[in-house]
Amino acid sequence: MENVQTVTGTCSTASLGMTLMHEHLLVGWPGWEADASLDRATRREHARRCVDRLAELYDLGVRTLVDPCPIDLGRDVEFMAEVAQASRVHIVCATGLYKEDSGAPSYFKFRRQFADVVAEMTDVFVREITEGVGETGIRAGIIKVATGPHQITPYEELVLRAAGRAHLATGVPITTHTDEGTMGPEQLDQLVGEGVDPTAIVVGHSCGASDVSYHLRMLDRGAYLGFDRFGLEMLHPDRERLAVLIGLLGLGFERQLVLSHDTVWCWRGRELKLPAETVARW
Ligand SMILES: [Zn+2]
Repeated sequence: MENVQTVTGTCSTASLGMTLMHEHLLVGWPGWEADASLDRATRREHARRCVDRLAELYDLGVRTLVDPCPIDLGRDVEFMAEVAQASRVHIVCATGLYKEDSGAPSYFKFRRQFADVVAEMTDVFVREITEGVGETGIRAGIIKVATGPHQITPYEELVLRAAGRAHLATGVPITTHTDEGTMGPEQLDQLVGEGVDPTAIVVGHSCGASDVSYHLRMLDRGAYLGFDRFGLEMLHPDRERLAVLIGLLGLGFERQLVLSHDTVWCWRGRELKLPAETVARW
């Protein structure tokens, strides 16, 4: 790919610079809408927090940030564009849907009884990539899919198939969420089954596994792996992430490993006091 779509326009890959591949400006669990009126009150404060953080990252050399928030986790691409415009960091937003257990699967699960929802989801993803999200004209630059731990549900399989088709139609890469260091190879099987080349896929949160054979099975097929939850000790120890990462670097896989933290800078809904070690991290 020569160009990448950011929330403020097209950017050549050559000018992306150092890129964090998985961070979140703003996330809202489905249902946050119950507190939507309180969310609006904090929007300005959220924007300020994000702009400040991007300035810090810029000083550290970061020039681009991928925010792979799927459609159903409170994604707000206009917020992202506003923040990107006020900073010097490029932001790439995603199209796609989250995993069944904590996303918002009800709409397409209902429609599935009567319609071809893979075609419908594909249509949504392609439209968000080629025309933009809603009426905003802001185009997605990556496709997000997600699976829960130890299994891919029938709903998640539909999303994976649609993501594969949207990739084939647009050439935009796919980034995934995995839980507990499981189902990465199965995600690849699904996507490759739709005709996607593994080199177009980042299997996210692969640092949740410490068995290096798990990683090698995917790297040997050409996929990228996300070591993208550094700092999230409550999910997996950083020492193990590092040990696996250093081992894979030693084997020469540096071009297939992407690093990030999966931080969440702001939560939609009403203000929440999180314990110190979880502030800004998820
Ligand atoms: Zn994430």
